[in-house]
Amino acid sequence: MAFVDESSKALVARCLTIAELPQWLAAQPPIDAEFFVWHHTFSPTEAQWRGIDSLVGCFNYFRDARGFEWAQGPQFWSAPDGVWIGHHPSLPNYVGATNWNDSGSRQVLHMETVFNGDAGPYTPDYLMQHALACVAICRWAGIPIQWVNIGPDGGALKTREGIAFHRQCYINGQTPKTCPGLRVTQTDVWAAIQRAAAEGDDDVANIDTVADATVQAEMPALVASGIIQNPSQTEHPWGDAASVGLVFTMIGRMAKKIAALEAASPKP
Ligand SMILES: [Zn+2]
Repeated sequence: MAFVDESSKALVARCLTIAELPQWLAAQPPIDAEFFVWHHTFSPTEAQWRGIDSLVGCFNYFRDARGFEWAQGPQFWSAPDGVWIGHHPSLPNYVGATNWNDSGSRQVLHMETVFNGDAGPYTPDYLMQHALACVAICRWAGIPIQWVNIGPDGGALKTREGIAFHRQCYINGQTPKTCPGLRVTQTDVWAAIQRAAAEGDDDVANIDTVADATVQAEMPALVASGIIQNPSQTEHPWGDAASVGLVFTMIGRMAKKIAALEAASPKP
């Protein structure tokens, strides 16, 4: 599905799959962001979630009970039915976590996980959905995939650039929030984010083990043709031989993927 720029809508209210999320983001006006805050809704819970009715209900609550300007609130809602876009992430946002809604000229993005994290930890699959969404959003927004390390389970503030829980957004020991829940730990969430970040990188994973064998077999021809000028540098990551090995490996893996796609598609 082709997506379009939806920044004319303050409240987008669109539900995306994990595969669609990067495509939708790529169609939006780019932003310069530095901080990603991970939340839980507490209520509605997963079982109480009713899609668009729940999303609009939350924004009505922000306006009517909390006095926020209409459509101000978290930009992303990772829910049982997919990842919902709430407030458009390219627009200025003033609501999310006290003291962390305006960090100067750079945006802060908030993602609600539809869940009560005080009652229990996420299931592994649900946590992975949140982590994949977090990685896609951070990559689009230019937020480094790193924990900012502030608050009670992180120690002192190291940087403003990265990811944190809502409860870690309070400096000087003030922690009025448990968000994203007492049963949700930084250790579990960070491990999931690292797995999610590695998932799209499988084309370059373990490149050394494949590259060396390929390069060694082709070495005499490559040296004779002048493509490799420093054959002794196979160990060095930036050596000619290692670079050629990387290219060979990428071509091999692309060929494997094409073959798999061809095998999976119906024949005319
Ligand atoms: Zn929160």
